[in-house]
Amino acid sequence: MKTVDIIVPCYNEEEVLETFYETTESVVSSMEGYQFTYILVDDGSRDSTLSRMKGLAAAHKNVRWLSFSRNFGKEAAMYAGLSHSSGDLVIVMDADLQHPPAMIPVMMKGIEEGYDCAAARRTTRAGESRLRSAFSNLFYRVSNRMTNVKMPQDAVDFRIMTRQMVDSILKLSEVERFSKGIFAWVGYDTKWYPYENVERTLGSTKWSFRSLLKYAVSGITSFSITPLRIVSGLGFLISSVAFIYIIVTLIQTLIFGIAVPGYVTTLCAVLFLGGIIELSVGILGEYIAHIYMEAKDRPIYIIKQSNLDSHTSDKKGDK
Ligand code: UDP
Ligand code: MG
Repeated sequence: MKTVDIIVPCYNEEEVLETFYETTESVVSSMEGYQFTYILVDDGSRDSTLSRMKGLAAAHKNVRWLSFSRNFGKEAAMYAGLSHSSGDLVIVMDADLQHPPAMIPVMMKGIEEGYDCAAARRTTRAGESRLRSAFSNLFYRVSNRMTNVKMPQDAVDFRIMTRQMVDSILKLSEVERFSKGIFAWVGYDTKWYPYENVERTLGSTKWSFRSLLKYAVSGITSFSITPLRIVSGLGFLISSVAFIYIIVTLIQTLIFGIAVPGYVTTLCAVLFLGGIIELSVGILGEYIAHIYMEAKDRPIYIIKQSNLDSHTSDKKGDK
C-alpha cells in the first residue's frame, strides 16, 4: 500500500472546496493499492474557506489542513504543503477543478511505469483572453531561450511526484519561488499528459494581469543571468562604436578644423545612451531585488493554525 498526499493550495475557494473534495474522492477512493490524504493549505483566505476545511476534516479522517496568517501566494502554499507531506507520492493540484481529478489514475500509470513525475499539460487555452495567451507565449519563448532549464509551455501545476523528487524540490528553498522553473530545474524523468483546458465554473481566478507580469519577470531573473550578459554585451558594443566614432571625429577635426554643427549627433547620443543606462540599471535592480529578498531570509510562509500532528518547524516556514 502506497501513501499519497494531495496538496491543494486554496485562496478564497469557499464555493468549490466541498465539490472539489467529493469529486476527487470519488475518483481516488476506487484506486487500489493507494491510500490518499489531503493537505489543504488555506493561503490566508478572507472568505469561509478555512471553516469549510475544518468541516471537511471533521467529516473525513483523511483531510489535513493548515492555515496561513495572511495571503502568501500560491507558491508559498505549495511549498508549505510539500514540506508537510510525508507520503510516498505527492500530488499537487488546484482547488478549482480546472485540474481534472479523473486524470489522477491515468497519470498514476506513468509513476507505475517508473517515471519520477507525471505532469499535466494543457493542449488548449480555451476561455483565456487573447492578450494573456500572447504574453504567455512570449514569456515561454524568451525564458526558454535565456535559460538552460527548458520549461514546457502550457505545463500546469498539476503533477504526481515521487518522494525523492519532492525532497529535491524542498532543497530549493528560495523565498521568491517559481515552481515551473523549479520542477524543471531538479530534473528527473517526467511523463507528460495532455488535457483540454477546463474553464473554471465555480469561484474566480486569483491572478491579475499585473501579478502574472511580475511573476514572469521574477521567473526569468530567478533562473537566468542572460539579461545581465546582454547588458554587458550592449555596453561593449556601444563602447566599440563610440571608440571608432571618436577616432573618426578626431581625425576630421584635425584635418578640417572644428565644424560647429553637431547638435543632432550630440542629442541622439545623449538620449540613446541615457535610455540604455536606465534600462541596464533597471535590469541590475531586478537582480539586486532578488538578492535583497533572499538575503533577508524570511520564512516563506507563517502557519497560524492547523490540524497537523506535528508542525515541523524549519527555518523556511514555521509555526
Ligand atoms: N491560489 C493560492 N493563493 C493565491 C492565489 C491562488 O493558493 O494567492 C490557489 C487557488 O486557490 C487555486 C490555485 O492557486 O487553487 C490556482 O489559482 P487560480 O485558479 O486562481 O489560477 P488560474 O487557474 O486562473 O491560473
Ligand atoms: Mg484556476
